[in-house]
Amino acid sequence: MSKQTPMMEQYLRIKEDYRDAFLFFRLGDFYEMFFDDAVVAARELEITLTKRDAAKANPIPMCGVPYHAAANYIKNLVEKGYKVAICEQVEDPKHAKGVVKREVVQLITPGTVMESNMLNEKENNYITSLSYFEDGTYAIVYNDLSTGESSIALVTDGWDAVIHELYNQPIKEIVVSSTLPDDHKQQLKDKLSVTLSYQDEVSFSGEYRVLFDHLNDERLVQAFSRLLNYVQHTQKRSLDHLQPAQIIELKQFLKLDMYSKRNLELTETIIKKGKHGSLLWVLDHTVTSMGSRLLKKWIERPLLRQNQIEERLDVVETFYNGFMERDSLREGLKSVYDLERLAGRIAFGNVNGRDLIQLKQSLSKIPELITVLKQFDSNQIDKITQSIESPNQLVGLLESSLVDNPPISVKDGSLIRDGYNETLDKYRDASKNGKQWIKELEKKEKVETKIKSLKVGYNRVFGYYIEVTKANLHLLPEGRYERKQTLTNAERYVTPELKEKEQLILEAEEKSVELEYELFLAIRNQLKAYIPELQKLAEVISKIDVLQSFATVSESNNYKRPEFVENNLQIKNGRHPVVEKVMKSGEFVPNDVFMDQHSNILLITGPNMSGKSTYMRQLALTVLMGQIGCFVPCERAELTIFDQIFTRIGAADDLVSGQSTFMVEMLEANHAISNATSNSLILLDEIGRGTSTYDGMALAQSIVEYIHNHIQAKTLFSTHYHELTTLDQTLSNLKNIHVRAEEYEDNVVFLHQIKDGAADESYGIHVAKLANLPSILIDRATTLLQDFENKEPKGNLVHENSASQLSFFAEEAAASQVKSVTKAEESIIGELKKLNLFDMTPLDAMNELNRLQKKLRK
Ligand code: ADP
Ligand code: MG
Repeated sequence: MSKQTPMMEQYLRIKEDYRDAFLFFRLGDFYEMFFDDAVVAARELEITLTKRDAAKANPIPMCGVPYHAAANYIKNLVEKGYKVAICEQVEDPKHAKGVVKREVVQLITPGTVMESNMLNEKENNYITSLSYFEDGTYAIVYNDLSTGESSIALVTDGWDAVIHELYNQPIKEIVVSSTLPDDHKQQLKDKLSVTLSYQDEVSFSGEYRVLFDHLNDERLVQAFSRLLNYVQHTQKRSLDHLQPAQIIELKQFLKLDMYSKRNLELTETIIKKGKHGSLLWVLDHTVTSMGSRLLKKWIERPLLRQNQIEERLDVVETFYNGFMERDSLREGLKSVYDLERLAGRIAFGNVNGRDLIQLKQSLSKIPELITVLKQFDSNQIDKITQSIESPNQLVGLLESSLVDNPPISVKDGSLIRDGYNETLDKYRDASKNGKQWIKELEKKEKVETKIKSLKVGYNRVFGYYIEVTKANLHLLPEGRYERKQTLTNAERYVTPELKEKEQLILEAEEKSVELEYELFLAIRNQLKAYIPELQKLAEVISKIDVLQSFATVSESNNYKRPEFVENNLQIKNGRHPVVEKVMKSGEFVPNDVFMDQHSNILLITGPNMSGKSTYMRQLALTVLMGQIGCFVPCERAELTIFDQIFTRIGAADDLVSGQSTFMVEMLEANHAISNATSNSLILLDEIGRGTSTYDGMALAQSIVEYIHNHIQAKTLFSTHYHELTTLDQTLSNLKNIHVRAEEYEDNVVFLHQIKDGAADESYGIHVAKLANLPSILIDRATTLLQDFENKEPKGNLVHENSASQLSFFAEEAAASQVKSVTKAEESIIGELKKLNLFDMTPLDAMNELNRLQKKLRK
């Protein structure tokens, strides 16, 4: 590369340290980018790419964004997963010798943004660190810089478990060691679509060590250090709001693998990826964004301990019964702003006067909230209420120091209340008195000069002046007035007195603005001491909010409190919480579920579209709702506590993942059967569809047998392989159930009702009919089906036969049948082709058709 100018040398030197970020290089009123940064940024931001030193042999690609509009461009890049390093001039160009000194003051990354316009208020924004150790364990730290919370978990069962754990969490960025194997790095990017960052130095001795000194496991300490090192290195500012890391014992929560998180559409739907249509959508009647974030966490980590579940249910029940009080509670919560994120921004030093007024208003509602909570008659709620302290001191500070309607800017004054600071009051008096004097000056001058139209005014450039119209100039006495500005119709003057007063006013105003800023910073600093208190408050309020949300949704959707028993499961008139919401009321057909030791496995048959998948998911969602402490959609429920939920949708139904290969189906089935215990719930929906009939059937059967004999997990198994229904003769704990459908005038009517026993037939052809396939085709399929059924021996499959052999015969048999049939029909098709419809009357056509049809039906 040719020799660079000193400034470009400086640029290149800084860029060296920020290779994976766009370097926003401050040049006057612009942030400029150069070289590849410029090329990519110009494309991503749709801004013009220019050249620096265009006349020279190797001009440098360059583009830039104005300083004042940078926020939007940065937002755009960060939302796309990029990082942006902000490089400022750190000395006054006037005093610089040579090139102005520049430094990166902040690295903005997807996981470290704090600006509320870049954050989704209803979702956490995690930066996560991942560390791995020789003993095969992984440590994961979740940190939300915007709220200050951190949690940390150890994963001891291998890399796949790490992906299952991380899946669906609101992670924007993962910090790893550069030595993490490449395929793992790739998987993190592909499966979680996050930004990867590297941090190899893990020892940490800085002031924030207190945040993790309590972790007495070297692995946890390392993982947390990795995260803190990275955040400190990139953010270069106070992290006083960070809370000590909370250890998550993964074993204390119901485990959901990534397939279940996705298939059950817990927080987003599979196809549209939105909240609408998910379980979260139904359950979210939270009032605050803190509550909304907590609800999402609860949905993804259902509880395992009955006493913890019952504790939540007790509160929900109390809220449920206290309708009026709950209404006031919801009203009260409405005026509570996002205390968690406010606390974060106080620490980061980017709250303004308006934020603090919001804070004050939120906090002054707390006593009311406590009063409302005290009206509920419940020990649980009393305990919660007692843990809330009215933040009187803090409210007092904000009340005494800030005006009610401060401007957005914190540097232009008008923030601080009169009486808060003596010096400030003096400045204000000085300027007020000065202004008063000027007001009176106008009167005085009018009298003395007898010019009625004389006025005293002010503008930014010339300051205060006395204005006299040209017609009256002759009335002015000589000497006292000094001309300042000439207008078309008037002249403007000053007097020595006026100048003196002006000086006083301006000086007082300037000083008071400066002092106000200083005072504001001091207040902001003082507030830092209250951060832990605010966070504690936020925690309690979000919990109350989620529990009242459960009560509200349970009441409006008529959910019932579940009971927990061992082993058995009994649901009376259960409903699918989401499907019933998207239907007109009363359209959803409720169904019972009954499972005990002798019906551990329910084999569900029934026509397509009859409601098998819905029934299975309904059970999983009901179980999950119970274990997060919510009432459940049914008339009565006895549930058992599950340790894990596994779901597998047959490849044919799995349109979404784009990987509808049989291999994936088998991998996922394997994941379920190798991890499930007798306390798990397994949903296998039409497994085996991804391969040929006999293959699939054989595998489906052996999977059922394996679960029955080796795992004994409660299992719902839907299948369109009718042959499997005879399994109840050999597997004592398997029970057949089916979804009822009825034929009505040759059409099938779905009743969506679950009944004991196996379905009679698969009704596939009826569904085809519903889909309006040509009737000639439907008739043909009916004949074929009869043929097949006559030829094939019904009943249990022979276990020993290898699956591939079976499929070979099946294909051959099918092929020969198709051929012979085609011949028989050929002549009829020939005749049809020859018909000249234009020469026939409708009646002729009718007769001809009738004749052909008869021939066909022979
Ligand atoms: P299957 O898995 O048997 O093919 P689905 O469970 O996908 O059937 O259900 C098909 C459709 O039937 C669903 O989209 C839903 O609209 C409707 N449905 C399912 N179960 C019920 C029910 N219990 N009550 C009313 N409608 C239902
Ligand atoms: Mg289905």
